[in-house]
Amino acid sequence: MTQEKRPMKVLLAAPRGFCAGVDRAIQIVEQAITKFGTPVYVRHEIVHNRHVVERLERIGAIFVDELDEAPVDRPVVFSAHGVPKSVPEEARRREMIYIDATCPLVSKVHVEAQRHHAAGMEIVLIGHAGHPEVVGTLGQLPEGAITLVETVGDAEKFEPKDPARIAFATQTTLSVDDTAEIVAVLQRRFPGIAAPHKEDICYATTNRQAAVKTMAEPCDVVLVIGSETSSNSKRLVEVALRAGARKAVLVEDASAVDWSLLETAQTVGVTAGASAPEQLVEDLIAAIGARYDTAVEELRVTDENVVFKLPRLVA
Ligand code: SF4
Repeated sequence: MTQEKRPMKVLLAAPRGFCAGVDRAIQIVEQAITKFGTPVYVRHEIVHNRHVVERLERIGAIFVDELDEAPVDRPVVFSAHGVPKSVPEEARRREMIYIDATCPLVSKVHVEAQRHHAAGMEIVLIGHAGHPEVVGTLGQLPEGAITLVETVGDAEKFEPKDPARIAFATQTTLSVDDTAEIVAVLQRRFPGIAAPHKEDICYATTNRQAAVKTMAEPCDVVLVIGSETSSNSKRLVEVALRAGARKAVLVEDASAVDWSLLETAQTVGVTAGASAPEQLVEDLIAAIGARYDTAVEELRVTDENVVFKLPRLVA
């Protein structure tokens, strides 16, 4: 006799998963392999997702930490997070074929930082130390031109050389709410601080956080699919908890779920960071369905239609 399954409501956040920048970066590696054959070298994880990286490895990508680990006679792709200026310079010096998969929305932040610097402004970058995107943005300008601010406390302590000539920029994948608090401190202390033309936190980060916020309150558990290294995925866990979910955890995929978390749950929320493939969401829903009598409801806060063109070399 088969045991009857207990009912479980599954709320599915939308938008979730792949953004236009991740989609483009993956296509760049695939196209580079098609055009140049294997192997194609990729400096850093192309996007922060283990499944994506492993699939690309299977079709002929080799991931390296630094450019000098790649031979000069093979093409190299730079990751979606962006790279310091010294990296393409080094590739040109070594006469390598390189393809830059930096997300256009990260490049936009780079251009803005350069514009402020050229206008003689000191720049405050709100972001997380050591994240590749932050390393890449800091590396657009000479050392000391940009000061990294990670917290409200840092913003309170920041002492510019000239308070009348400062601008701020942000990492694209931050918490919208945390960043607003840091910006509020900077604007209170330096009312004339120049702000980005349009939010630096990208549309995908903003929409995924808005979706999880809408979904979280009735959830006993929110499962966020994403890798430990994925900044935007980790922010989704924090946003879910702050928006009222009883529990929220990051899971690499269905096999990583601690099912005891769902033991007393009646409603489980599911979302995925911008670098997580939709297949992982489908597998997770199927895994929940194998254990519970599920009713799945998608909560969509907005539609997305952003598409970025591929670089000419692989278009
Ligand atoms: Fe670009 Fe935003 Fe996606 Fe990052 S999360 S790759 S900035 S669209």
